[in-house]
Amino acid sequence: MICRKGVQEMKRILTGTIIFALSMMYMVSCGNQGGITMDNNTVFAKGDKASNSIFSNTVWVNMLVTDEEKAFDTQVYNVTFEPAARTYWHSHPGGQILLVTKGTGYYQEKGKPARLLREGDVVAIPKNTAHWHGAAPESHLVHLGMSTQVHLGPAEWLGPVTDEQYREATAK
Ligand code: MN
Repeated sequence: MICRKGVQEMKRILTGTIIFALSMMYMVSCGNQGGITMDNNTVFAKGDKASNSIFSNTVWVNMLVTDEEKAFDTQVYNVTFEPAARTYWHSHPGGQILLVTKGTGYYQEKGKPARLLREGDVVAIPKNTAHWHGAAPESHLVHLGMSTQVHLGPAEWLGPVTDEQYREATAK
């Protein structure tokens, strides 16, 4: 009887140890997000699905500062791009700043190679410069956007980044 009890106790301890080890392995593998990630949560809410007349594929926008009173001459927003989603080609009369908070994506100015974007990257986009920004083919991208000097006018939209242009820009 004593022996059987001992075996049962050992089984209980071993099972507990295995579950603990598996939990730790799961936490480590999920905590270490590489270039490809499907986790697009950030401190800011995703907001609403955006219009497909200025974006390709699914994009979410949350306006954080609309500056309706025109007190700051700046608008601030959180943008979430699903994999392969991107803006149309466009330019900002007053410039734009992007702060990448999650995932992997690209920024490209017309006629230049695309720049790879990762969490923590900052892009300062000069006035009246044709460009696009968006997610990598297999990753979300989340960035904060700031439109500066908005009194100079809204963004000018210049048509979609074609699948061919996107493939060429994002090819490794
Ligand atoms: Mn832009």
